[in-house]
Amino acid sequence: MRKFGLIGFPLGHSFSAGYFDSKFHMENIRDCSYRNYPLTDIEELPGLIGSDPEIIGLNVTIPYKTEVIRYLDYIDPEAEKVGAVNVLKINRSDGRFHIRGFNSDIYGIRATLMPFAVEELRNALILGTGGSSKAVSHVLSEMHVHFSLVSRTVKPDCLTYRDVQTGLPAGTRLIVNTTPVGMLPDIGQKPDIRYDLLTGDHILFDLIYNPEKTAFLKAGEERGCRILNGLKMLYSQAERSWEIWNDPAF
Ligand code: NAP
Repeated sequence: MRKFGLIGFPLGHSFSAGYFDSKFHMENIRDCSYRNYPLTDIEELPGLIGSDPEIIGLNVTIPYKTEVIRYLDYIDPEAEKVGAVNVLKINRSDGRFHIRGFNSDIYGIRATLMPFAVEELRNALILGTGGSSKAVSHVLSEMHVHFSLVSRTVKPDCLTYRDVQTGLPAGTRLIVNTTPVGMLPDIGQKPDIRYDLLTGDHILFDLIYNPEKTAFLKAGEERGCRILNGLKMLYSQAERSWEIWNDPAF
């Protein structure tokens, strides 16, 4: 059996287990399984991998995407640049294992934003400064889209929510929510920006996929904006994980 799974904590509802179970069923893949491995501490990772030689691939979620890096024998340069890893590939030989780390969230963000022309995105505003904010910044940089970050706290090279109350930075076309604000169960909440300034020229991208249409996206839709949720990113990152686990090139 080739075993895959998800590490993180807590792991209440997980999209990945359902996604891969249904993929294995639909594509008649019989020798694979995928399950959740809740780890209360990332220090449990080597023990988990050592205890079951059939584990060959893992996804990593909150809160371990950065902490996991110190357990890697190899890190993909792009994942290193972003400072976050969400895919582990485990190579085994002679009873030993080597862990390779990748970031498929970047791939999912690319899949969502690449269909747009740079002129459509023009200047972007990224709400939040955590792991996925860094991945969004990386993709926008490679697309040559200028962006500003917005944080709750005053820090270098960041705007605050107070700064954006007087208006959006000139030329803003894309606004990306990388915060958890509006995620189930707090579906009535939305980031504190001036929705009244939004028009049909704006594109709102919310990384949240549950609910599929957050209060942020609803408010943008009411103002005529184009809206994108986190589902395409979610599916694309899962498929990219599968590719990484199965392609010997990785
Ligand atoms: P993270 O590393 O914890 O970063 C979230 C950032 O949001 C924080 O750094 C913080 O930035 C800001 N923030 C946190 N709580 C906030 C609050 N109450 N109000 C305003 N801002 C707040 O989390 P992440 O891994 O980047 O994930 C963020 C979101 O993306 C989650 O909702 C997650 O579900 C979603 N996500 C989706 C996918 C997908 O495939 N669709 C993949 C990964 C993540 P400041 O402190 O600077 O304000």
